Amino acid sequence: MSITIIGAGLSGLLTGYLLKKEGIPFKILEARNRVGGRINTVYATNKAPVEMGATWFTRQHKQLIGLLEELEIEYFEQRMDNTVFYETSTVSPAQLVQTPSQAPSFRISGGTSSLIHALLHKLDATDVLFNQSVNHIKINKNTVEVRAGKTFKSNAVILAIPPKLWAKNIVFDPFLPADLMGIAIQTQTWMEDSIKIALTYDQPFWGQGNLPGTLFSNSGPITELYDHSNHEGSKYALCGFIASSLKNLTYTERRENVITQLKKVFGVRATAFTSYEECVWSKEKNTFEPCDTFLYPHQNNGNSIFSKSYLDNTLFISSSESAPEFSGYMDGAVYSANRIVEKIMKI
Ligand SMILES: Cc1cc2nc3c(=O)[nH]c(=O)nc-3n(C[C@H](O)[C@H](O)[C@H](O)COP(=O)(O)OP(=O)(O)OC[C@H]3O[C@@H](n4cnc5c(N)ncnc54)[C@H](O)[C@@H]3O)c2cc1C
Repeated sequence: MSITIIGAGLSGLLTGYLLKKEGIPFKILEARNRVGGRINTVYATNKAPVEMGATWFTRQHKQLIGLLEELEIEYFEQRMDNTVFYETSTVSPAQLVQTPSQAPSFRISGGTSSLIHALLHKLDATDVLFNQSVNHIKINKNTVEVRAGKTFKSNAVILAIPPKLWAKNIVFDPFLPADLMGIAIQTQTWMEDSIKIALTYDQPFWGQGNLPGTLFSNSGPITELYDHSNHEGSKYALCGFIASSLKNLTYTERRENVITQLKKVFGVRATAFTSYEECVWSKEKNTFEPCDTFLYPHQNNGNSIFSKSYLDNTLFISSSESAPEFSGYMDGAVYSANRIVEKIMKI
């Protein structure tokens, strides 16, 4: 049996690693020229690694933690201030407010992409093929033909991409059941329209008896901002989200808006950053896919229709959004990969 995996995000790469352990041949076809999908850490010399995608997890994310432990990847607690800046509206200045104590969240040491790179290192160089945007899947008995730049043949295919993407961008021959397609098209892809920002600093102006580095704002453009210094506490950064509506501004306009707000809340020292990074995910075509109707966050995520296999066990549905628990999150992606490989091993 041989398998084609579509997508080299967390779910696709982990599926590859698990299949490799079982001795089942596979290829991963990836549309982008990089691995990781919605996980993308920006690394720059002498600067804290900063996350443009997935960042935090909690103790409840047991599938993810299990994988990190298996791969011997360390993680650490996100530093949170007891007192944070809070902007209630555009007309009032930021207030310092106490936050209720809450369960800690964690980050992966060295950046979330450390997990992606660790999985990639478990694979052979030819297992992942880049710039392969899959647009057609033909299934005839036990033969699957997956068309991207060229045609790849195998005995089964795993869709390790968000359901809305395969429902809209891939032609299936024969057609997939109408109820499955209807739900897939209306399945929200977690964070697909968010905008992440990160600023690095030579020295922190927050923490250690100084002002907090945490900001929550109802007025924006920054809606949430957190300390993002590295695990060792030797390189400094702030990282968070800005309002999705800013996607229509230019890069320079967004950056200026961010700087103005930082200066207003933290003072002029916040403008002494050494780099500004951002990712407008709604401009990432292999993540964002427009939908005719409004989808609420996590809509149809984990729908039981995704847990079935189709066309005589030749087509399997993966990606974080297909997981029944913590769907949309990294934990869901790990769950999906584990579940599908278990299922394949029983066939
Ligand atoms: C800004 C942001 C913040 C987030 N924060 C968190 C967080 O703090 N904690 C958390 O747990 N999760 C977070 N997430 C969600 C987390 O990133 C995802 O749950 C997880 O990475 C999904 O992995 P995946 O493999 O299922 O999908 P993806 O990462 O989307 O991977 C799918 C892959 O398929 C590729 N692809 C798409 N279409 C095709 C095609 N036609 N042919 C071939 N390849 C294709 C894509 O390029 C991509 O590499 C965040 C996501 C974003 C965007």
